[in-house]
Amino acid sequence: MRIDIISVVPELLDSPLSHSIVGRARKKGLVEIHVHNPRKYGKGPHLQVDDYNYGPDAGMVMMIEPLFRMIEELKAERDYDEIIYMSPDGEILNQGIANELSLKGNIILLCGHYKGIDQRVRDHLITREISVGDYVLSGGEIPAAILADAIVRLIPGAISDGTSALSDCFQDGLLSAPIYTRPAEFNGWKVPDILLCGDPVKIRQWQDEQALERTRRLRPGLLDGE
Ligand code: SAH
Repeated sequence: MRIDIISVVPELLDSPLSHSIVGRARKKGLVEIHVHNPRKYGKGPHLQVDDYNYGPDAGMVMMIEPLFRMIEELKAERDYDEIIYMSPDGEILNQGIANELSLKGNIILLCGHYKGIDQRVRDHLITREISVGDYVLSGGEIPAAILADAIVRLIPGAISDGTSALSDCFQDGLLSAPIYTRPAEFNGWKVPDILLCGDPVKIRQWQDEQALERTRRLRPGLLDGE
């Protein structure tokens, strides 16, 4: 899989995409992630990428031409399954969307900045818009890093124990059961006895009950498919 990220502040993406599971998946060659700065197609001697908003509101808007040329450059090199704009008014990211995107070949993630991007980019070049939640961030880089991480950890081989991504929250529409490790007792706080019984069937049954109970208590909407 290949993920191309378009950003005018590429430094914001360096660390989240270079370490831990995503960093290792890149090193193993499971995913290629490339970051491109559309400033190289900026206007004038200062390679300007934003301009004043038509209309009375303050705030600069990312211009169409540098984004158009950046996207065209990438599209000339390969076909893309999706060209995604990270946007607070997009569909809200969930595990189902991450699962679906992890099966794609090539995707572009476009990060906005300032007041956002010229609407014509969204109307003519973008195939999908994704939000990381109902709040506004300063740029699309952190949302793009969140989406890339959610996708990459699902690629077979990215997590050493392949089943572990499947036992995460939301994969079966439920929250996860609580997890513990050694020691079995610390400060008088004990691991539930059932986990020490050595019977994997009983433990699985307990985990399933816990997952259902936690979901009912903390996120009842998930049980109604919300
Ligand atoms: N004026 C816009 C917000 C711009 S924020 C509005 O009111 O909707 C600047 C950039 O940050 C956006 O272009 C987008 O790429 C990114 N961004 C901000 N919040 C986001 C969120 N919740 N999800 C995804 N991207 C977001």
